[in-house]
Amino acid sequence: MHHVDTIIIGMGLAGCTMYWSLKQAGIKCLCIDPNIANTSSKVAAGMFNPIVGKRFTTAPNASELFVGAKKYYKGIEAMISEKIYFEMPLYMPFQNIAHQNDWSLKMPKLKEWIHDYSELEKTLLAKYDSEFGGFFVNKTGYVDSNLYVKSTFDYCRKNNELLIENIDYNKLNIETKTYNNYQAKNIIFCEGAAVVNNSFIKQKFLNLAKGQLLCGKSSSVLPKIIYNGKIYIIPTTENEFICGATYEWDYINNEPDEFGKNYLIEELNKVVRFEYTISDHKAAIRPTVIDRKPVVGNIADNIYILNGLGTKGVVLAPYLANLITENITNSSEISKEFSIDRFNNK
Ligand SMILES: Cc1cc2nc3c(=O)[nH]c(=O)nc-3n(C[C@H](O)[C@H](O)[C@H](O)COP(=O)(O)OP(=O)(O)OC[C@H]3O[C@@H](n4cnc5c(N)ncnc54)[C@H](O)[C@@H]3O)c2cc1C
Repeated sequence: MHHVDTIIIGMGLAGCTMYWSLKQAGIKCLCIDPNIANTSSKVAAGMFNPIVGKRFTTAPNASELFVGAKKYYKGIEAMISEKIYFEMPLYMPFQNIAHQNDWSLKMPKLKEWIHDYSELEKTLLAKYDSEFGGFFVNKTGYVDSNLYVKSTFDYCRKNNELLIENIDYNKLNIETKTYNNYQAKNIIFCEGAAVVNNSFIKQKFLNLAKGQLLCGKSSSVLPKIIYNGKIYIIPTTENEFICGATYEWDYINNEPDEFGKNYLIEELNKVVRFEYTISDHKAAIRPTVIDRKPVVGNIADNIYILNGLGTKGVVLAPYLANLITENITNSSEISKEFSIDRFNNK
């Protein structure tokens, strides 16, 4: 029997962040993941923006989350010798006059996040349409989540901390915390949308949303600004960009399809003032929760879950993984608001 402190099942944003968080606390892990291509974390655009949606809402602890996430990803860059954290101003165009008016009411409370980039406005308007104007947000950008999870995966493989396989739940005993010939003190489930196959978790808490995005090449140099309207356009190099995303609650499979492509191209054509070609088209299923809050904490003694990162995965993951690490190392309480017990287990 091999003894490890913690087994992490699933190595997307949740599992990888759990791995680094525990490693920093001196806890040795065994990670298990089959390394499939179209997981949410490998497809995601990785954008972070504190001001969300048409109603301009922010999380009450947004400052703590954003400062913590930046510190975290910068630290990981040093560990994996890759650049994954990209800070970039973000432009939010108003959709109509009512949206504009709503913003004037909300703006005084959001001063911390907005920035006068008037010198950038001209550059932006040369490339993007903005009939009703808009505003710039700072402390925004994107994390290359694909590179993050792939590099973490490679790091674990080199350190012999990885089994490349789909876990067979019949071989997992959560009473004795054993899997095949591995014995652990803790087990953490991080399977994203695939948690529905986990026979130890009876609660149905996910309301999955398929997401599709396009990668494109522009004929001219793009400003280093994220455009975040009905669709978002993130420049990843001087003339390459990611455009997303669809939110599909009714879907047949997790493959890229014509519906997603046509929708994104139609919206793209409404706002861009540059020629482009499409170089790639991706799709995956987001693990979004019915009440839109993540699911974090114990499901039994020393058995944990980190799931439901939804559309804000890159900012939430470091904060939430740390809650589990603190619970394992210092028995700190994890807020009940994230508990799986809020869902019926029948
Ligand atoms: C199109 C799209 C755009 C997005 N854009 C953004 C964005 O801009 N910003 C943002 O913050 N978030 C974004 N997201 C959401 C983000 O991707 C998710 O919140 C996050 O990646 C979820 O991470 P996860 O680790 O929970 O799940 P996943 O990424 O799905 O990872 C789960 C892992 O578990 C493994 N696994 C599953 N079953 C088993 C098993 N039985 N045994 C072992 N391993 C298993 C899988 O192989 C996978 O690696 C986007 C998502 C999509 C689809």
